[in-house]
Amino acid sequence: MPLFDAHSHLHFPEFAGLGDDLPSGVAACLASANFADMQILASVKKRLGSKIFAAFGVHPKFAGEFSAEKFLPFLELADAVGEIGFDKYSEYGLDIQRSFFEAQLSLAVSRNLPVIIHAVGHFDCLEKSLKKCGSKKFLIHAAKMPKELAKIFDGMGGYFSFGLRELESAKGRACLLAASRDKILLETDKNSDRAALEKTYDRAAEILGLGAPALQKIIEKNFAEFFK
Ligand SMILES: [Zn+2]
Repeated sequence: MPLFDAHSHLHFPEFAGLGDDLPSGVAACLASANFADMQILASVKKRLGSKIFAAFGVHPKFAGEFSAEKFLPFLELADAVGEIGFDKYSEYGLDIQRSFFEAQLSLAVSRNLPVIIHAVGHFDCLEKSLKKCGSKKFLIHAAKMPKELAKIFDGMGGYFSFGLRELESAKGRACLLAASRDKILLETDKNSDRAALEKTYDRAAEILGLGAPALQKIIEKNFAEFFK
């Protein structure tokens, strides 16, 4: 059975790019962060087509480079929009982050594309923008937040994705346990390495008190539902 990586950066130059295919036994969504890597992802998507899911978007750390005119052509190839969101460590102020986040979010909503969200702090702004733009299909990647917040986003239809890094932290584990079972996904946030994904599956199964086959079924179903 393939393993599902909801948030990969396999096309980033630091991972030496993508060869002919994904690592064997892995299905993945590759997310972009700025226009330079969107170019690379676009060529990978043209080559691999439906073998990968491609998310195009400008990350809050690159918020200042967003341009709707430059962004629109990438949406023709997009299976999702992302990773976009808020980051309290971004050099860009909250108003700039919000304005470019909402611009991308609105485009996703109008095209019925799922959204991959990067959220470090500013959760209240995230909640407001999601409601304002009418976004109902979003995934908070590297999910790590108090369970009260997780319940709020869960109630809004949000999905949550976890890597080993999150599952090692108390807040990440709390979020995994608070999320509805049909909203959970797993990720590498790196190069979709199968061995790393296997460890992530094992750790998540352990935290949830599930057997490996049961968790695999849940993740497969949730991945298909989110990216359909
Ligand atoms: Zn990422």
